[in-house]
Amino acid sequence: MSVVIFSHPACNKHNLGTDHPEQPGRLHAIFDQLLSSGLDYAISHQTATAATDAQLALAHDKAYIRHVIDKSPEQGSVWLDDDTAIMNRSLEAARFAAGAAINAVDWVMQRENAQAFCAIRPPGHHAESAQAMGFCLFNNIAVAAKYALQQYHLSRILILDFDVHHGNGTEQIVKNDPCILFCSSFEYPFYPHPDLTETTHILKLPLAAGSDGSAFRQGVTTQWIDKIADFAPQLVLVSAGFDAHYEDEMANLKWHEADYAWIAQQLKTIAQQSSHGRIVACLEGGYDHSALGRSVVAMLKSWL
Ligand SMILES: [Zn+2]
Repeated sequence: MSVVIFSHPACNKHNLGTDHPEQPGRLHAIFDQLLSSGLDYAISHQTATAATDAQLALAHDKAYIRHVIDKSPEQGSVWLDDDTAIMNRSLEAARFAAGAAINAVDWVMQRENAQAFCAIRPPGHHAESAQAMGFCLFNNIAVAAKYALQQYHLSRILILDFDVHHGNGTEQIVKNDPCILFCSSFEYPFYPHPDLTETTHILKLPLAAGSDGSAFRQGVTTQWIDKIADFAPQLVLVSAGFDAHYEDEMANLKWHEADYAWIAQQLKTIAQQSSHGRIVACLEGGYDHSALGRSVVAMLKSWL
């Protein structure tokens, strides 16, 4: 197995201040923990390129992309929805975040048994095709999925989203695309207050406030694993949010690093069965810096 991290310094220029939970220190915490864990020596680092308008348009309305460009301020900040603001470096950061996801798809598709983690901000899974939401401007994982379908002529892609919040934006973008199996676990009831309707290719695993990783593991094992195996994804994509951690005060689940190691191991097994080991994970949430860094290390350690 070979593990690569895609990132770009521009991702940390998106900065809405120390009062905002989605802040540059999140990526610093990940890179610091990789170094102090000793894992960094085993991982290769790649610098991302920026996504073009045409690449963003794989998952977003052209008018929405133009809207974000036009709204981008030269100074100060502008709100795109109730909790999503942009400042003068946000658009650039978002382009590199989506670009990293595309670069990571290219990397794993051109190799055997390769896993990529995109250490990126802003996150993406709440962004809908024409709407910023929940700190997200562009839906990085959906852009990656649509790019992979087109560029590599794939017909079966898994997106598994284990962020504590439902990936509403991803669901909205992929709901009419049966080439994509979307499996999302989330605290429920909780933001973004999804309905629990499932289809053959949209699977949802609501988890009660206060539940620990065992409820998640049982749900994945009994409700998802067989369906994913039957689907036989040719590429495994992961919306990797770490805000279900018990130390993370954004939400109310009680997961530990071992739970992230466990789901990473499940994803690796799935990928080895049908996708030549190819996995691309994009950072979503995770707001307690120490827990975030340790949990990312636990995930990557499972892949090495
Ligand atoms: Zn989240």
